[in-house]
Amino acid sequence: MISPILPLYERADLDFSHGEGVYLYTTDGKRYLDFASGYAALALGHCHPKMVEAIQIQSKKLWHLSNRYKIPGMYEYCKRLIDNSFADTMFMANSGAEAVECMIKMARRYFNEKGQLNRYHIITLEGAFHGRTLACATAGSSEKIKGFEPAVQGFVRVPFNDIEALKKAITKDTAGVMIELIQGEGGMRPLSDEYVKELRAICDKEGILLMIDEVQSGMGRTGDLFAYATYGVKPDLVALGKGLGSGYPVSACLATEEVGRAMKSGSHGSTFGGNPIAIAVGSVVLDVLLEKSFLDGVREVSKYLKEQLDTLASKYPQYIEDITGKGLMLGIKLRKDVDVDYFTILCRDNLILSIPASGNVMRLTPPLIINNQHVDEAIECFTKAFEDLGSTSKKVGHKVKSVVKSVFRKTGLKKE
Ligand code: PLP
Repeated sequence: MISPILPLYERADLDFSHGEGVYLYTTDGKRYLDFASGYAALALGHCHPKMVEAIQIQSKKLWHLSNRYKIPGMYEYCKRLIDNSFADTMFMANSGAEAVECMIKMARRYFNEKGQLNRYHIITLEGAFHGRTLACATAGSSEKIKGFEPAVQGFVRVPFNDIEALKKAITKDTAGVMIELIQGEGGMRPLSDEYVKELRAICDKEGILLMIDEVQSGMGRTGDLFAYATYGVKPDLVALGKGLGSGYPVSACLATEEVGRAMKSGSHGSTFGGNPIAIAVGSVVLDVLLEKSFLDGVREVSKYLKEQLDTLASKYPQYIEDITGKGLMLGIKLRKDVDVDYFTILCRDNLILSIPASGNVMRLTPPLIINNQHVDEAIECFTKAFEDLGSTSKKVGHKVKSVVKSVFRKTGLKKE
């Protein structure tokens, strides 16, 4: 019989009762270091006191208003966010996919308004993940749209980090190039600096839009407010989500004035986008991220985490192929014969949470509030997990990958 919860996720058999800062607690009293942070959403960790306070205060005043009225604090919030960005204007939504969808619509609309009706093709990169709506799934890697065809028209996929392939894909119908600067789901893969700089130059030369999906990489995760600043380029459109509300559903599409002007009243919208609670929460997140030394702290702790992971990689070269990513968007790329799902379970057994990504990478996206002690604790958990991995392979007497299925049956992962 089908579960009342549509069985889309293999959920770990853990009963969390509450979270605080970098930790999650189960009903049986265990404490987990949360280096997954809800798919990289919890920029400020669990139940940040200033966010709790803001929600409590706002929840007694006003939860929801139609966007036909002025939403308290919305103008000030948007002005502050765009003043700290490349953008001149922004649209507020609720999820990353909606922000990306808006970015796609804006790119199409921009050329439509210019009378270039065929110019709606958007180039994306192999391995990309842009969300789960039909357009976003089409824009992402091919397996995400499989079984949901027909795909949305107008997306062209090219190999990752290959500038020649990208140049060849541009035609008179190209509206823009949509990228993640660091692919998250795709395995914590950063594009090279040279690729991104050249891409900006190509977009300028061809008169097409540079559209950056910063749903995962944005809001401080690279040690700058936006990853495009880490790369030193200026986009035309940016999608934000996840960290924007630090676990509360808030997302946004940021645009230059030139692109933004193509959107006319009534051409797009959202019932809940920019609701008063989202504004209250988002404002607190911005307050914290824009505190003088906050992003310096992210840069320092991410450097320390990377150094410690590199040391771990040299201690376990038989298991670790590489440490990938940037800032606090890092990945442990495991060797082919180590199954990332199984290793993630071993980590969980050693009280640290993380999430597998493509390319046999275990991704580490801790809250931005971690300090060096949390890093030391994490490394201790990973070390124990690697030791457990060693003893499992010895016990079983063959490659770890082949025992994964039975482990899944015996331990944590429960099918709904
Ligand atoms: N874009 C990127 C880069 C993402 O990582 C994600 C989610 O993982 C999305 C878009 C979709 O965000 P959401 O799940 O909030 O719709």
